[in-house]
Amino acid sequence: MKLIINIKPFSFQLTRKLITSQGSIHNKVGLLLQIKDSDGNCGWGEVSPLAKKELQKSIESLDFIGRKTTKDSIEDYLCELPGALAFGLGACLADLENLSKSKLDFEGFDIAKSAYLLPTDIDPLESIIKYVDGSNDKKSSCTIKWKVSHQENNFKEEKTLQKILDILPNNFKLRIDPNGGWSRQKAQEWINELKNEPRLEWIEQPLPSKDIEGLFSLANHIPIALDESLVEFPYLRKTWKSWQIRRPALDGDPRLLLKEIEQEGSQTVISTAFETGIGRRWINHLAAKQVKGGNPCAPGLAPGWCPKGPLFNKNPKLVWEAV
Ligand SMILES: [Mg+2]
Repeated sequence: MKLIINIKPFSFQLTRKLITSQGSIHNKVGLLLQIKDSDGNCGWGEVSPLAKKELQKSIESLDFIGRKTTKDSIEDYLCELPGALAFGLGACLADLENLSKSKLDFEGFDIAKSAYLLPTDIDPLESIIKYVDGSNDKKSSCTIKWKVSHQENNFKEEKTLQKILDILPNNFKLRIDPNGGWSRQKAQEWINELKNEPRLEWIEQPLPSKDIEGLFSLANHIPIALDESLVEFPYLRKTWKSWQIRRPALDGDPRLLLKEIEQEGSQTVISTAFETGIGRRWINHLAAKQVKGGNPCAPGLAPGWCPKGPLFNKNPKLVWEAV
């Protein structure tokens, strides 16, 4: 089947700056993809990496593929492409397949059921108190995610941890995410504080992504979720037998991730890389599938971090026209 790839760059600003141990992000940039077949049918996708380098690589790969191509040719390239581009192209092909093969009904997902991502530019305590107070009326999730060890931090996180544990209700869960920013020693100190803490759901990527031996060793003592390691070393998606944070927008062909989630025993947790409405269709669908799996837990969709507006519409055609 002959196809034409159309591309539009997009950008938007997060409602607040996200600061992690690896740097900060405020402006999100990426590409919207529209693939048209010879009958005029459209597929929609988004290239939405967090790293600028990945965007650059994706643009180079798109230039290599060319604007006029075929379905078979894209399918052949997919597994070799940057994950963010494979996500976008895979999503486009899924739309075109929907016209002929079994129909994929995109499920919505109530973002209030996502884990609550604490602001990273202020002391988190006040936000926790506000969220806990509001969560009963709003029926939002009882899971809080705290990104620690970030570069612009000017308060002592260990002390804050004690205060958080003092105020967190028993039915709440806490995820701690240093984004690979801890040394083994630092990780051990935190584990000593947390090892008997029933409200700790997991620590996410405590050690640098390359310290795989250290991560396996920590997992013997406390629940560990991998995130960045899975992006850098995709083979770990098969061998890591605990929680896996998967950001579909970085992960590659979303049709493969969907199959993985539907496998028995999957401990996949869908997480956002801050997408437009086009990418969100898949993120929501995968999140909806994930919570219906054997190990349900709150997806990480960062409620409130993306602005509102036509770029976040559920209808891909309207998102395309809004850019
Ligand atoms: Mg993470």
